[in-house]
Amino acid sequence: MKKKDGKCICPECPSFVECRQLAFCFKKVGKSKCIKEEKGCLCPGCPVQAKMNFKHAYYCTRGCEEDQSQ
Ligand code: SF4
Repeated sequence: MKKKDGKCICPECPSFVECRQLAFCFKKVGKSKCIKEEKGCLCPGCPVQAKMNFKHAYYCTRGCEEDQSQ
């Protein structure tokens, strides 16, 4: 999955754990069931984040954009 695809880049992230989940920034996904350790974050710079005008990071461990915005 390349950045120019405009798709989620979570699988390239050092924190990512394969667990049939992606795009934790969206409310329908939210925190990962499997990712527990923050080892770096690629969210800032992800084309999905840019497209959605999201501002946060570590969605997989801290919750979706909406939750972190409260
Ligand atoms: S830290 Fe960000 S880019 Fe990395 S897996 Fe979690 S949500 Fe995806």
